[in-house]
Amino acid sequence: MNVKNSYLMNAYSRQEISFTSGSGIRLWDNNGVEYIDAISGVAVTSLGHSHPEIASAIAEQASQLMHTSNLFKIDWQERLGEKLCSISGMERAFFCNSGAEANEAALKLARLHANANNVFDPVVVVMEGSFHGRTLATLSATGNPAVHSGFSPLVPGFMHIPFNDIESIHRLADQVPNIVAVLVEPVQGEGGVKAASQEFMQTIQHLCHEKNWLFMVDEVQTGMGRTGAWFGHQNVDVEPDVITLAKALGNGFPIGACLARGNAAKLISPGKHASTFGGNPLACRVGCSVVDIMERDKVPDNALIQGKRLLQGLKAELGHHPEVIAIRGEGLMIGIELSYPCESMVKRALTEHRILINVTRKNIIRLLPPLICNENETDEIVARISDLVRTTNRH
Ligand SMILES: *Cc1c(COP(=O)(O)O)cnc(C)c1O
Repeated sequence: MNVKNSYLMNAYSRQEISFTSGSGIRLWDNNGVEYIDAISGVAVTSLGHSHPEIASAIAEQASQLMHTSNLFKIDWQERLGEKLCSISGMERAFFCNSGAEANEAALKLARLHANANNVFDPVVVVMEGSFHGRTLATLSATGNPAVHSGFSPLVPGFMHIPFNDIESIHRLADQVPNIVAVLVEPVQGEGGVKAASQEFMQTIQHLCHEKNWLFMVDEVQTGMGRTGAWFGHQNVDVEPDVITLAKALGNGFPIGACLARGNAAKLISPGKHASTFGGNPLACRVGCSVVDIMERDKVPDNALIQGKRLLQGLKAELGHHPEVIAIRGEGLMIGIELSYPCESMVKRALTEHRILINVTRKNIIRLLPPLICNENETDEIVARISDLVRTTNRH
């Protein structure tokens, strides 16, 4: 690919559109054109753009104190740790700056757990179709050959099984003695908006108890209300040992977290893991604001209500469309699977229908609207997406 007049590495295939302001679920480009944001910066701006309370929390804390390092006690970090543990049932938090880093922390817990049990060639079970990030360990954990391509040697110690395949995990449990953990998304986002079944998750939980494996859930995308519960695993009634978070935790301010309970919460001691920026006063104050606003405004409940409305609306409009294979979702994480590759729809959605969408796995439209959208806004999303799909020809 040709990089024209750019000082940026060619990492992304971007749309030629640049936004200059936003409010709630709306964005404006540099020509003043208004759009609906139905992707939220990939599940990040769940409270909408330019939330006034988040903006003032940032401004206030930035003018008071941004960073001191983890050489010192950080009150906002303690507070955010307590809030996140209270909504998740976890006991301890480690703070970092992204989803991949949160998963790195979880994978290091798995290694510490292994080494403490004299397992020096440990295996973490991961899923085909998963996405866990772009660092070397997290891309190795990711179940997508395209993400691996060009990066050998991969980090060893991962075994992939088909998602939702109960027989496979039982077989692995019988055949592989050095398994120490399972890492799984409650709903695969990049993988095409596919939910883990309750039976699959409960099987994993059962095996983890029986075999002394860590049950680790990647809630980077599903966490913080996205699926209509605080955390996606709560929808299938399991209690993991480790939860990873990022994306919506800062509503756009970079922050990630790895939460743990039980023995998993005691594995880290000084010298085992660290982050210079991780958990600084600014990031943690923003995280506290996000949790407070979500609690006060019952944002996960709204995600559930609006998610149902969005799903029903789309099914009513598009359920019988000949090219629509499936419409599915959990809360405000929605996938519309088409019978043909539809990556070109992203641009038409922007230029003709003024709505931001994402296409994953080539043929699945993924919608991740802000969790604060109201009924009218949800209906507007249904109308624009239905128009978009109806006016698109196969080629
Ligand atoms: C986005 C995502 C990640 C990676 O997060 P980054 O902040 O981009 O490193 C990891 N896991 C899941 C499930 C994600 O959706």
